[in-house]
Amino acid sequence: MDLIKSKYWSNRIKDNEAYVPGEQINEDTYIKLNANENPYPPSKNAQNAIQQMDKSKLRLYPDFGCHKLRTEIAKYYNIKTDEVFVGNGSDEVLAFSFLAFFNPGDYICSPNVTYSFYIVYASFFNLRYKPIPLDADFNIVLNDLFIDNGGLIIANPNALTGKIVSINFIENILKKNINSLIIIDEAYIDFGGDSAAGLIKKYPNLLIIQTFSKSRSLAGLRIGFALGNKDLIEGLNRVKNSINSYTLDSIAIVGAAAALKDKNYFKLITNKIIDTREKISRKLKDLGFIVTDSKANFIFISYPGINAKRIYMLLKERKILVRYFEVSGIDNFLRVSIGTNEQMEYFFKSIKEIIENFKG
Ligand SMILES: *Cc1c(COP(=O)(O)O)cnc(C)c1O
Repeated sequence: MDLIKSKYWSNRIKDNEAYVPGEQINEDTYIKLNANENPYPPSKNAQNAIQQMDKSKLRLYPDFGCHKLRTEIAKYYNIKTDEVFVGNGSDEVLAFSFLAFFNPGDYICSPNVTYSFYIVYASFFNLRYKPIPLDADFNIVLNDLFIDNGGLIIANPNALTGKIVSINFIENILKKNINSLIIIDEAYIDFGGDSAAGLIKKYPNLLIIQTFSKSRSLAGLRIGFALGNKDLIEGLNRVKNSINSYTLDSIAIVGAAAALKDKNYFKLITNKIIDTREKISRKLKDLGFIVTDSKANFIFISYPGINAKRIYMLLKERKILVRYFEVSGIDNFLRVSIGTNEQMEYFFKSIKEIIENFKG
């Protein structure tokens, strides 16, 4: 990467390698399966609530404590409002957590195949990053993990692989590490997993982070949240109120609360995505692909003997965008977000032709 350096830059940004999101090509000619966005529109309730807002009220600052939205989230998870923190996307909530709960020099542990933003935060906030190797099938093995200087973060289901660990597995880690903070990033939990939210009452060292970007189809509105013991939530508030007291805007607050109440639509679209995921996974396996057992809205796939980067480029020529990571250990895999049934049929037809061309 070419770094343009300015003499006015702080050391913090000079040395930092920032996160690179999936390409955002704003062209409707592409089938976009590269950022785990939801292929379905957000709930009509949310769209209407935003439409009907009194826009003249935008002259006022938003509700400082986001009380209504936090109360809705608390109701949904059967916890208290003061056990909920909301932020401008879960990326922001994650960044605040790293600031609130770790000291420079602390070790942040996480599986070595995961959401790469964790590594960016660790370096940006002067923490040390300690990757924990997965086994050959991308399973997380932490049986004896003991953290005595820092914390652990697990995406569950895991980013990239889609593989999930059980609540029992999480509870064992919590018990063994009661003096260290354990963060569970549940960005994809609604696509076939069980949230560990029920454990926050029992474990003061558990922080759960979720987002409206994936299962609630509101990536553009930027809403994320954390669930945890009220002292942890207070810690996040201390960070927020030292940086920007109003991270969520009035429109996002209204839209998110309305989306959360529309349980039927939420069920409908998540079930559709799960069905499509299972269908495409079976078809790709039949074709000879390795497909990890994903409980997320994406699949992680590899074709033995055919270079994944080549497949990525040939798909792009056919106007299909997927995600390829040039990272050792996973550089023959592609991450493919689950689109609509029609999109995935076109994806399958295209990738099948690509594979057959290679063989023929
Ligand atoms: C998408 C994603 C996020 C970020 O979500 P936003 O709420 O859109 O910031 C966080 N963690 C993981 C693992 C993700 O995949």
